[in-house]
Amino acid sequence: MKIQPIARKTLAETVAGKLAASILDGSLQPGAHLPPERELMGQFGISRSTLREALKGLEENNLIESRPHVGWFARAIDESNMAQAKEMAGGAADTASRPATNEPPTGPFRVPMADKAIHIPNLKKDRLGTFEFISWWEREKVQNARVMVIGAGALGNEVIKNLSLMGIGNLFIVDFDKVEAANLSRSILFREGDNNRSKAEIAAARAKSINPDVHVQYLNGDITTQLGLGIFRRMDVVIGCLDNREARLAVNRFCYWVNKPWVDGAIQELLGLVRVFVPGQGACYECTLTEQALRDLSMRYSCPLLARQNILLGKVPTTPTIASIIGAMQSQEALKLINGIPVEPGKVTHFNGMVNEMHTTAYSPRDDCESHWTYGDITELPARAERTTLADLLRIARADLGPDAMIELDQELITSLECPNCHTVEKILRPLSEVTFEAGHCPTCGVLRESTLTHIITGEEDFLHRTLASVGVPSLHILRAHNGVQYRFYELTGDLAEALHFRHFEPKHVALAPATHEPQPATKNIPTSGRVRIKGEAKSDLTIKHVSAEPVGSRVKVRKSS
Ligand SMILES: [Zn+2]
Ligand SMILES: [Zn+2]
Repeated sequence: MKIQPIARKTLAETVAGKLAASILDGSLQPGAHLPPERELMGQFGISRSTLREALKGLEENNLIESRPHVGWFARAIDESNMAQAKEMAGGAADTASRPATNEPPTGPFRVPMADKAIHIPNLKKDRLGTFEFISWWEREKVQNARVMVIGAGALGNEVIKNLSLMGIGNLFIVDFDKVEAANLSRSILFREGDNNRSKAEIAAARAKSINPDVHVQYLNGDITTQLGLGIFRRMDVVIGCLDNREARLAVNRFCYWVNKPWVDGAIQELLGLVRVFVPGQGACYECTLTEQALRDLSMRYSCPLLARQNILLGKVPTTPTIASIIGAMQSQEALKLINGIPVEPGKVTHFNGMVNEMHTTAYSPRDDCESHWTYGDITELPARAERTTLADLLRIARADLGPDAMIELDQELITSLECPNCHTVEKILRPLSEVTFEAGHCPTCGVLRESTLTHIITGEEDFLHRTLASVGVPSLHILRAHNGVQYRFYELTGDLAEALHFRHFEPKHVALAPATHEPQPATKNIPTSGRVRIKGEAKSDLTIKHVSAEPVGSRVKVRKSS
């Protein structure tokens, strides 16, 4: 092991670092006149010679400039002095330490105030007024932002509270759990009277009461199976406040498929970590998993019914304090993404609250990672999961891809359960998520039955008349079809108005916004003319690199144990 010498900073370097940090975070804006020397000496408790050494260092790094007989002025931060500013400020992250595969940061670094209209807020009336003083804060982007928070536990509570306070305009909150007494010790949004009510619903209601200007929507459901990909596609940022690998892996893939950044957080006792994943920029979540972890996940999947059962267990001991720290960092990363401030995808920041240490390291992206796949053009169908049948969708796919087109479902369907003991076979047709571990047992002899699963619809099935919803496809989902050579992607856009509205808990007198689509007739025959093929993003202010327009060969699937 190589032992790194501990770098000690001189007093002048420390003072210079603090000033550099003020320039970086915008509290010292470009052109701002630094306080007089005497005042700075008093503020930092240093001598004149130390101060001058600090100022000289800043000048050499192009962070401040002197005007004769007037004083010192902060310079704008741009490409030319960003790295120096970060280094002086003590940030481990200079441009040279980015992972090799990293593209330039998402969006230009905002030159504070340079392109921001001067606006004097009325702090008596304007709840977000103080944020106007933050140089890089872009009110419109923040108010129009759409953020999904997945998980409304200890971390999710903190994140939702922060996003509401900051006026992030549209929040989509997902959790399948209910509030219980033990949550009350670390969940700012929950009250004693909330016991046994949906966490997502309560959290959304409280977000609305913290800031009535925020539009909220909640889903009391399972992230891995009940959330249409079209919802992910319409978000600016996804924040994972999860406590298990299965859910993180699912969120990672969904975000990759529709090219969205996501911010992961994890906590245990006084330890925590934060990381941002952006498709195509550095490692993704799956890249960070060890071979052993991937094997463990596939072991779980070798008995699918049991795997689902186990996800529901596994409670990690945490404190409200570590949830505040990590939740706050996640919220900040989301805010930076929304405002186009550079983030560092594919890196992890660990915080150890036991010894108050924080460090950031980069993960290596894996070439063989199965999550690296971004969907190509998405065809918007005026179709709805509740009304469209497998046969309908297959017909559309075959019109595009020829007679060999098949549909790949994201969720396994159980077609039959067979008892290895008494050999009785029960024909069923239900999504895996809807069959409990208990129901998997033989009603005659009690042995756990073997399930036959499928997720490929070839056209040979005897259940093509079933609706997509009945085989577990969520509203506003994006489905894949392929003919062995090429993929096509179809969104159930007919579900849009109902599936994504951000209108829960709106006051009754507020007129509903006009529906974004015409009401749909029963979709026995979906007119081909109603289909809209669109490129890439549905709606986003974020400039995220598109990874590959053409799908690569590997279909994403949890590895089977070999
Ligand atoms: Zn990966
Ligand atoms: Zn049996």
